[in-house]
Amino acid sequence: MAITVVGSIAFDSVKTPFGERERMLGGAAVHFALAASFFAEVRVVGPVGDDFGERELEVLRKRGVDISDIEHIERGKTFFWRGEYGWDLNSRETLETQLGVFEGFDPKLSARSRSSDVLFLANIQPQLQRRVREQLPQARFVALDSMNLWIEQQRESLMSAIASVDCLVLNDAELRQLTGRPNIVSAAREVLAWRAPSPELRGPSVVVVKQGEYGAALVTNESFFALPAYPLENVIDPTGAGDTFAGAFVGYIAAHPHEELSDELLRRAMAHATVLASFNVEEFGTERVERLTGEEIVARMQELRAITQFSGDT
Ligand code: AMP
Repeated sequence: MAITVVGSIAFDSVKTPFGERERMLGGAAVHFALAASFFAEVRVVGPVGDDFGERELEVLRKRGVDISDIEHIERGKTFFWRGEYGWDLNSRETLETQLGVFEGFDPKLSARSRSSDVLFLANIQPQLQRRVREQLPQARFVALDSMNLWIEQQRESLMSAIASVDCLVLNDAELRQLTGRPNIVSAAREVLAWRAPSPELRGPSVVVVKQGEYGAALVTNESFFALPAYPLENVIDPTGAGDTFAGAFVGYIAAHPHEELSDELLRRAMAHATVLASFNVEEFGTERVERLTGEEIVARMQELRAITQFSGDT
């Protein structure tokens, strides 16, 4: 029932056609943790610098997230990312990435973080993801996200990290880039064939393909499932939507420890992930999810069910 997550804890400066924000709280692990906290206990692992304060920690604390493995590096600077979106919000340009305290970071997990039964390796250097994976060899379910930067710069290291997890969560363009295959179903099936590096690991059996405003697909060796994104008329800032999606997906699986990883469970997890991601994009950064309620999630789940159902044989 508990998830450990390692990934970027960041300040983001973001410009969209609807406004801009300087140095707002962000990072893959932060967006993930806020979403996952609606379903399970979450423990965040990662470093921050002197510029990261009480105000930022309080956002996580308020959602009940365990922050005791967030390490403060003295005289260090928190990870920083600057990005700008095109007019339809489908294209995003990274203008600046400063790894800061993530450079040379050596993750030391407390006994609590090592005891989680679910692990999420959010987007960060693949060798860091691998070092954290090694510290939770017994985890029941392990998922991993990454991005183009690491596919381009550390492909081999990323491939061996992916081979050590149960589930890969990736954008469609990144999945194509990673495998060199233009078709996402065949690209996902290729990843499913990647062998685990050691016999005690299982290797990937689930691939989740995020497709932005077009929704997301789920590919296993036996099955395929897809959902559209929840239709919103006002999207303000997509930053963190992918991590929020992953947070709800993995959180939902963590919340059902006695169910096997069936298609039925994975599909319900996909629906919750779609709903959480839709809230995230309604405002900048973490603003909307910070004040989200369980009732709002339930209501939107019903709406998503209604718009994805049809009847009749012909
Ligand atoms: P998403 O919009 O879900 O793809 O994720 C956006 C988040 O990823 C932002 O909050 C950034 O802080 C974080 N991010 C951007 N670039 C990187 C990177 N190279 N490594 C880790 N996290 C990153």
